[in-house]
Order: sequence, then structure tokens, then C-alpha cells
Amino acid sequence: MTHPDHSGSAGDCGTVYLVGAGPGDPGLLTRHGADALARADVVVYDRLADDSMLGLAPSDAELIYVGKQAAVHAVRQGRINELLSEHALQGKCVVRLKGGDPFVFGRGGEEATHLRERGVPCIVVPGVTSAIAAPAYAGIPVTDRRHASSFAVITGHEDPTKPASRLDWHGIANGADTLVFLMGLTNLASICERLVAEGRPADTPAAVVERGTTPGQRVVTATLADLSERVTAAGLHPPALIVVGDVVRLRERLAWHDSQPLAGRRILVPRVRRRPSEIVRLLKAAGAETGEVPVLRSETLPAPADLLGRLHAARWLVFTSPGALEALLEQLAGLGLDVRALGAAQLAAVGPASAAQMSRCGLRVAYSPETAAGFAAGFPAPEGALLTLVGEEGGDPHAIRDLAARGAVCSELPVFRLATDERAPLPAIEQFDGIAFASSNTVRRFLEAYPDGPAPGHVIVSIGPTTSATAAGLGLRIDAEAADASPAAVAQLLIERLGPAES
Ligand code: SAH
Repeated sequence: MTHPDHSGSAGDCGTVYLVGAGPGDPGLLTRHGADALARADVVVYDRLADDSMLGLAPSDAELIYVGKQAAVHAVRQGRINELLSEHALQGKCVVRLKGGDPFVFGRGGEEATHLRERGVPCIVVPGVTSAIAAPAYAGIPVTDRRHASSFAVITGHEDPTKPASRLDWHGIANGADTLVFLMGLTNLASICERLVAEGRPADTPAAVVERGTTPGQRVVTATLADLSERVTAAGLHPPALIVVGDVVRLRERLAWHDSQPLAGRRILVPRVRRRPSEIVRLLKAAGAETGEVPVLRSETLPAPADLLGRLHAARWLVFTSPGALEALLEQLAGLGLDVRALGAAQLAAVGPASAAQMSRCGLRVAYSPETAAGFAAGFPAPEGALLTLVGEEGGDPHAIRDLAARGAVCSELPVFRLATDERAPLPAIEQFDGIAFASSNTVRRFLEAYPDGPAPGHVIVSIGPTTSATAAGLGLRIDAEAADASPAAVAQLLIERLGPAES
């Protein structure tokens, strides 16, 4: 796969990309940022509100964590600078991933300066800053023609009661309509007091946004007079920011994020492929946080010696999973061949995802039923037909058994195997409200990862009868089954069963 290179040079080895990861919602990473990650040899990253985007890096990329952790000292800035230049000077493509925007309180300027001094090429990929995005997700526009025509972003790290504070507090309190303080939660009380002392009315609306843009987002609104008290009562923790100004009042009508149908819900969607899941996309669009059982890597098997003979002997080639075509084409490429070597057989796909994959490659699929369960029953003229089933090693689609029962002569052509990706951690099962199974393989994968199974409180849904049957066979409870075996129906079912979390 090739990735667009926005550096303008043919090879970008030895370059450091200073990438803004955005405030938390992984969808707010820029395309430049995603492209840089996809090409990284080394990723040097801070604590991120959501580290799922590390999965965009190649699986053999080196991931180096340099952020702060409770009670553990962060790697010192000088050491981080050295890490970046050392790896780049070895000719590697280095991504320095920072929360929000790298140049907004991110010390990105210092890192870029260090790299320039060493003669290391450095490309800055701006990110969506939490200073604007977290208020936005809370329904607070930082400017609004009716309420605010300026905003300021200020460090809240300096205690305003300390005489050593270098900030001009009078200027801050009176110089901009909307004030956004980052890193200010510990100094919240004294910041509010100081603003009032410098002339901001005590009844000015103010809010704290915790973990903005993530499904765990929490917001407390009040006035400068009582914000600190209310935030303490609600027990908010960093990362959080403070917004001060009349725009905070707009939240009453604009709190779109909290009113999504699955706001605050966490759903586990086990999957067996690297490809992004449509169910995950829909659940996120409904406001849910999704977790994944670490993906299995698909390894293409070596091509059998008589590959061409086997392809050409078949009257039908049946692709049993979406990864099958990709793996077969890789086998053919290894022999110096391409899609033309598939020969004259008719093509069939078990399930719509496989069919879609094949159509994308320009292949005409002669038979692909809506659901995997109906595959054998509707197969045209099975008797005596020579079928080759192309798919996963050791995979056991019901299709084979049922087709053989209808008189078809079947042979299997395994083209890939699934192997565990040990690098990704397994999310704790207790944190989820629901679990969605998109196929029989995801059920098997789930039980492999969580041998103790789900908790009684989990709402468990399945995409259709085949998946439910597999679950039942393995002793796994399914609470509800999607109406029409589509990702949209799975998401709808979870919306009906769960709804938004109570806040
Ligand atoms: N470069 C970052 C800011 C780094 S300073 C950016 O542009 O967003 C870190 C501070 O940012 C935190 O103390 C907090 O005040 C704020 N912050 C970062 N992510 C946040 C989030 N998801 N919600 C609320 N505040 C956040």
C-alpha cells in the first residue's frame, strides 16, 4: 500500500513529524497525521485521551511512551529531544505524537527548535486543540456574534495567588470575552477568585469540561462564584479545561454530544480483521465509546504447488470471508500472477462483506446471498458442482457441510491464518455496558480472549442467526438479535436496549 507523502520529497527517512493527535476523539486526527503514522518507524507519544490511533502505525513500528503517569516522572524534555533526533539521524521516519495541537502548550516549539539545530528535517502537522474542541463538544462555541467576539487561551498552571506569576491577570480578566484555561484544574478556585478580583462579574457563566470530545466527557457549568465548589462536588479530574464567559450559557441549548442516543455508553465490539468495522463507526456516531478485542493479524499462507490447477479445476470459487480474496491475490502475486489467473470459474461470496470486497476489485460475483446462513440453501445447481472454498485455515463455515449435503463436490483452499497481535492490551471487560457480535468468528475470538465470559449486566447482541447459533453452541448468552443482519440493525438494537447513560 502506498501513502501520500505530503513532505514533497521522494523518501522521507530521517524526518520527524510533529503531529497533533487532537483532543481525544480519534476521528479528529488529521489526514496528514494519519498518513504520517501509517509510515512511521518510530512513534514517540505522550499520554493521549485515546490511544487507539497508535494502531494506525505499522505493526512493527517501535512505540515509545514518554508521557507522565501518576507518581512516575515523565521523561525529561531534553531526553525526548535526543530521542527524536537520534532516531531520525538513523534514517528512520519518526512521528512525535502530542495531544491536541503540538504548538498549543505542547512544547512542540522546543522540540522543533532542537531538531532544526541538529539539521534534522521536521514537519509540523497541526492538530485540533482541546481549547476549542472540548468546549465545542460541550455545546459551547468559543465565539458567538451575540456573546463573544474574542477568546484567549491561557495556561492555568500558574497559581494566581503566587506573587511570582508572570501572567497579567488584569489584562486576562478584561482583555477577551471568552477565556479558556488549560492545565488549570488544581488552581481552579484561585483562578476564579482572581478573575473576580480583577473585575469580572462574579455571576459570569463558567464551565469545566473533563475529557472533552471523548465518550467519557463530563461538564459542570456554574458561575465564577461557585464553579470551584461544584466541580469539587462532582469530582472532576484532569484532563480538564475551564471556560469563562457568556458563551457558556449557550450550552443549555447546544449540548449535542450528551444528547446522542448512546452517549456515555461503552460497547465492546470484538473483531477478527484489521479493517475498521462498520458497527464501530455507527456506534461512535451514536455517541458510544467502543472497545475492541485486539485484532488478529491475518497471515497469508504459502501458495500450494498446484494452486493454478486447483483454481482452474473448479466450476465455482467460493470466497468464505472478506480477507480471503486479498490473501489469494497475495499468493498469486508471489507467483508473478494477478487476478486474471482466477480462470473461468463462477464466483460466489459467503456474506455481503466478502461480496463487496470482490466487487471493489472489479470481479463479478454470480452468487452472494444477504446472509451467510442462507448460502447453501439458495446455491444454484449444487449437484455435482466442483466447488473450491477459498478462506481461512481451519475455518468451518456451515456452508461447506450444507453444500456437501446438497450434493456439491467441495474442496477447501486455505489462503490465510489468523494470528494474535500480542502488542495490543486487552480491555477490562467490566468497563463495558454492551457487547456486539458481528460474526461467529468474533464470538470465538471473544471467548478466547475472555475465557470467563461476560458479566450478567452486559447487554449482548448478535448480528444474526448464524452468529447466535455459534454463541449458543459455546454456551454464550445472547440477549437480542438484529432484525436484518446488518451493522445498522445491530447499532439500532443497542440504542433500543441501552439508550444514553444516565449522567
Ligand atoms: N496541546 C494540547 C494542550 C496540552 S496542555 C492541546 O492543544 O489541546 C494539557 C491540557 O490540555 C490539559 O491539562 C487540559 O487542560 C487540556 N486538555 C487536553 N485534552 C483535553 C480534553 N480532552 N478535555 C479537556 N481538556 C483537555
